[in-house]
Amino acid sequence: MVPSEIRALFAMVARPEVVSLAGGAPYVSALPLDAVGSMVGDLVAGKGAEVLQYGSAQGDETLRELICEVMALEGVQGSADDVVVTVGAQQALDLITKIFIDPGDVVLAEAPSYVGALGTFASYQADVVHVPLDDAGLIPSALRDTLDRLRREGRRVKFLYTVPTFQNPAGVTLTAARRTQVLEICAEYDVLVIEDNPYGLLGYEGEPMRALRADDPDRVIYLGSFSKTIASGLRVGWVLAPHAVRAKLVLAAESAILCPSNFSQLAVREYLLTQPWREQIKAFREMYRERRDAMLDALDQLMPDGCTWTRPGGGFFVWATLPEGLDAKAMAPRAIADRVAYVPGTGFYADGGGRRNMRLSFCFPEPHRIREGVRRLAAVVEKEIRL
Ligand code: PMP
Repeated sequence: MVPSEIRALFAMVARPEVVSLAGGAPYVSALPLDAVGSMVGDLVAGKGAEVLQYGSAQGDETLRELICEVMALEGVQGSADDVVVTVGAQQALDLITKIFIDPGDVVLAEAPSYVGALGTFASYQADVVHVPLDDAGLIPSALRDTLDRLRREGRRVKFLYTVPTFQNPAGVTLTAARRTQVLEICAEYDVLVIEDNPYGLLGYEGEPMRALRADDPDRVIYLGSFSKTIASGLRVGWVLAPHAVRAKLVLAAESAILCPSNFSQLAVREYLLTQPWREQIKAFREMYRERRDAMLDALDQLMPDGCTWTRPGGGFFVWATLPEGLDAKAMAPRAIADRVAYVPGTGFYADGGGRRNMRLSFCFPEPHRIREGVRRLAAVVEKEIRL
């Protein structure tokens, strides 16, 4: 295990004069805090004996039923019996990796991939093999080529890990046509798919994208989270898995944590039952859309020629590429000295890739701070080009 580049950076960007485009923290202050506070107070006063007690390893049954309603917004038809509540989607990643991975087993992951998943895979000594993505998400022909190569080498792939919608860190979304192709290829090569989908309901236009899980329930293990749609501090996520996998997940969860927090689960359950959560998600979307627009407008206006970036339709992140010859990792301390922070791309690769890349988050800073951050960043890049 090695420290994540993001955490090392957080220590440096805590200074208020630094505009941080580094962290991926959701803007929880947008929640109606008074309403949530009195809801939690009533919950403890009325149901304290349940709220403050241990619960089941699989998680609260009513909450699992409500989770199925949430997933139905993305076309997923799951049974509450096949849902396991976890301590954020992060624990779901850990449990799945624990179940499936022996040291040296191959995990396929997009290049770039969510840094927290790469950390988990490394902690179980998986061998991560990257498959490139572009503006339309994971590239199906590259997936097929990689599977062919691994098959020729006699190596067994345990699963494909993908964040198909509003990807972290790239901000791109797998198109509908590619979803079909990816599922077909995974069926042909008999590869399990881990669909990690914390941002699926945070699209800025139109209806939510249909989840991969909706089209191949036996092959896809779906990971969800309330971190971005309610509150990350509650640490409530979930897995929807084929039945046999679900049984193993419950065993693994039992030995890891006995059970997820009843307090947090019942707070989420109560929130979903009593608060206008669909409207709140709409409000989050509007807010994040405004921030995305602030970032893209500023990038369009200010970034020097030769820089490129993705244009996310939802989620929290823009993925930028610097001109040939520049190094985003080497530039990071100079950017922090000039009071702007980002996450260098290398943290999102298991193989040393991403040197010219950076992840720019627009979820947390206010729009005027985002514009100021991009202005400073553009000036830093100008200087690097002239170096
Ligand atoms: N997967 C992805 C792609 C993420 O971006 C995150 C949070 N940054 C997680 C999983 C973990 O989320 P949580 O544990 O808060 O549910």
